[in-house]
Amino acid sequence: MANYNPNLVKIHRNYTYEELALVFGIHKNTVAMWVKNGLFSFQERRPFLIKGDDAKAFLQHQRASKKQKCKQNEFYCLRCKAPAKPYDDFVEYVPITSAKGRLTGFCDCCESIINKFVSHASVEGYSSFFKIEESKGLEHIKDTDNPLLNSDFTR
Ligand SMILES: [Zn+2]
Repeated sequence: MANYNPNLVKIHRNYTYEELALVFGIHKNTVAMWVKNGLFSFQERRPFLIKGDDAKAFLQHQRASKKQKCKQNEFYCLRCKAPAKPYDDFVEYVPITSAKGRLTGFCDCCESIINKFVSHASVEGYSSFFKIEESKGLEHIKDTDNPLLNSDFTR
């Protein structure tokens, strides 16, 4: 669903489906769809009427639930139950395989650990918003690449 501005609705008036559709320049079938999706309308007699404040609340709710999707520079914080920015824009990249890993940081709001799974190739792109520290885990993988061989040689 497109992002309709709830503030265009006047809360002290009632709208027919056509009138509400006109506010947003959309087809009245879209309004009928909103009603199907939970927007209350008075259906005792025609034309069906929708209270402005109901429409506004409905659109605000739709908007809020849309906003739950994180932007590229946000993480979903499980404790805040909302998208969050990492504290100080500082994140660590922890490789899981050579192709992917996880960006991890601390929620700006509640300081819980926040994670996001990303491909190794995309890390470069994230560095435009974040200060990314490559995890020691990566060095660890490199170090332990041939550990036995190395130690055998030195002995
Ligand atoms: Zn949080």
